[in-house]
Amino acid sequence: MADVKYVFVTGGVTSSLGKGIISASLAKLLQSRGYSVTIQKLDPYINVDPGTLNPYEHGECYVTLDGAETDLDLGHYERFLNVPTSQANNVTTGRIYQTVINKERKGDYLGKTVQIIPHITDEIKRRIKLLGSGNKYDIVITEIGGTVGDMESLPYIESVRQLKWEMGSQNCIVIHLTLVPYLSASGELKTKPTQHSVKVLLENGIQPDILVLRTERNLTQDIKRKVALFCNVEEEAVVQSVDVSTIYEVPIKMLEEKLDSTVLRKMTLPVAKEPQLTQWREFLTRLKNPKHSVQVGLVGKYVELPDAYKSISESFIHSGAMNECEVNVRYIHSEEITDENVNKMLKGLQGILVAPGFGSRGIEGKITTAKYARENNIPFLGICLGMQCAVIEFARNVLHLEGAHSTEINHKTKHPVIDLMEEQKSIIDKGGTMRLGGYKCIISKNSLTYRIYGRTEIVERHRHRYEFNDKYFDEFRENGMIPVGINPESKLVEIMEIPSHKWFIGVQFHPEYSSTVISPHPLFVNFIKACID
Ligand code: GLN
Repeated sequence: MADVKYVFVTGGVTSSLGKGIISASLAKLLQSRGYSVTIQKLDPYINVDPGTLNPYEHGECYVTLDGAETDLDLGHYERFLNVPTSQANNVTTGRIYQTVINKERKGDYLGKTVQIIPHITDEIKRRIKLLGSGNKYDIVITEIGGTVGDMESLPYIESVRQLKWEMGSQNCIVIHLTLVPYLSASGELKTKPTQHSVKVLLENGIQPDILVLRTERNLTQDIKRKVALFCNVEEEAVVQSVDVSTIYEVPIKMLEEKLDSTVLRKMTLPVAKEPQLTQWREFLTRLKNPKHSVQVGLVGKYVELPDAYKSISESFIHSGAMNECEVNVRYIHSEEITDENVNKMLKGLQGILVAPGFGSRGIEGKITTAKYARENNIPFLGICLGMQCAVIEFARNVLHLEGAHSTEINHKTKHPVIDLMEEQKSIIDKGGTMRLGGYKCIISKNSLTYRIYGRTEIVERHRHRYEFNDKYFDEFRENGMIPVGINPESKLVEIMEIPSHKWFIGVQFHPEYSSTVISPHPLFVNFIKACID
């Protein structure tokens, strides 16, 4: 255990400074120097996991292969590192308290008063060290959600203080990310918020080892020197993070700032030769020099907050670069689409994606969108609820099953083409009870999807309760919407296709969760290719 090194990333001044991207970028650089790295996110809210949160609260809920509903930062970790994360990579205050309270009920602390220190902090430390056990990683990076000074993050900060003290400064370092705002009225960059933020950390017993200063403009060496002096940090450990046009450039910027070598030096790990970033740089070159351009519509109901569809928009970036194509995503509110205005609303799009979602709001707009794409031969990708909407539309307009619907929206429909899974019917609790994580799917050889994947067996991640109702299997098949992907154990339909259409695929799973910079998801890559064609 002593061999594993721990890096903590905290944030100050304001939220949304990009701790997740800094953590992922550092991990990328360390990985490209040959270290085995993983990243963990500690979230200070009391929900046991973000699965019960509305996307407006914290953006998309990301799902790991082992079926955990997690913070969207885990998506960044996977997209940067190309290594799957798991349940252990995201811990919330809710989960910590739940574990401690369950232990208390079992009598594990019999006779003792259960307190934040040591019981909660011990559980936090156990969860942090868990990732380091098992000889899988050389370095564990743990990102602490929230901002220092928040009441909610105090137990995490205290745990970091204890770990630093227990493990020693060579085995455990703290990177603090702050903001250096530019005041246009005086034409100056201001370091005072950073100084105050470091003071808050110091009050909590933590001296940061490295400061990453988020800024709109380049910092002069004078500013760095000043911050170093007032915050007791080495001058070369003051690193700037200037705004860039794409998050995928941040690792390159951090390399220029020597963030990775400073981290390694402080942890007395060898700073071997230059990191291997050839593939990464090639990706950036393709991303920045597109030969084509397409406009794709993303039809959903959370479009006011693009973070709600983070993995989808990142998948478009990966697959666009792969095709040397600039993908302009037009976010379209499904609530605004009607039979009357659909032609106008979706005009000029080379491809349409209907997004995942829950509940009835905006559903008719999604169904109308599927009809428009089908009738106008526009490449269409329906994900989860998006696939379900395509099925409902086909049932209503091609099979003439009047009022066909999903029982999620209308439980009295005469034609429940989408229905609750049998094992879901007795479930009452909402948290963590959907069909979650990786499930196998067997693809028919005679299908577009097979040609795209190039194999018959795939594993994709799920997050849903409802499914295609197999009573309608033959009717769909005979009329041209074909179930081409089936789960071998449960026989649930995973993929629907319309072979007479240029490119029309609906998937019950979420391909967007497994698209990364190094391996863009084949469905997205081929979808963009179809849009270009
Ligand atoms: N609401 C649908 C279901 O539960 C779809 C879920 C989703 O799109 N993730 O089956």
